[in-house]
Amino acid sequence: MDQQPWESGIEMQVLTIVVPVFNEQDTIEKFYEETEKYITEMPVKTEYLFVDDGSSDQTLDVLSRLHEKDSKVGYLSFSRNFGKESAIYAGLENARGDIVVVMDVDLQDPPFMLPQMYEALTSEGYDCVGTRRANRKGEPVIRSFFARQFYKLMKKISNAEEVDGARDYQMMKRHVVDAILSMPERNRFSKAIFGWIGFR
Ligand code: UDP
Ligand code: MG
Repeated sequence: MDQQPWESGIEMQVLTIVVPVFNEQDTIEKFYEETEKYITEMPVKTEYLFVDDGSSDQTLDVLSRLHEKDSKVGYLSFSRNFGKESAIYAGLENARGDIVVVMDVDLQDPPFMLPQMYEALTSEGYDCVGTRRANRKGEPVIRSFFARQFYKLMKKISNAEEVDGARDYQMMKRHVVDAILSMPERNRFSKAIFGWIGFR
């Protein structure tokens, strides 16, 4: 059998996939299966870091079972619901990857983009790669309205630049993660922070 790169003594880079989850007992396995399809083709050692944001359903049991099945699945669990931003922060703080990506578990952040994002960091010399939704199709009109108002207001009151439709689906190199973690903001808005810190 051919030797795998990680058996050759060459240190492989580690990619940590940080996934905040709140009451997601029915979505976690689907997310895992879909993501596995794409990470196997990537020349990187991947691990998952799920952050259970104080779920009250079977989320924690599902994570524990997944960890038993696949040791590259890790998780943290909050004592109560603190919100997605806190879960992202805890995930970034505990991710040990050379490269880290943040993803929602409901497949609104399509895993098929992972190889392309990884390529942009490793071959095209970028520090971080962000994603945005091109339209708000499929979303209730009232939600689109308030989302737009929110971004309009944020644009007015902050000097960070928010890309319209930006998502938290962002892949970044270690020094970018460290820069994000070094920011003392307590009420965090990651989408704005990702853009504000600079980097290529
Ligand atoms: N989430 C979380 N804490 C919360 C709410 C949501 O960790 O208090 C997670 C959720 O499980 C999902 C991601 O954040 O993985 C995005 O949540 P959701 O799909 O509800 O957000 P939306 O798509 O409506 O922005
Ligand atoms: Mg969603």
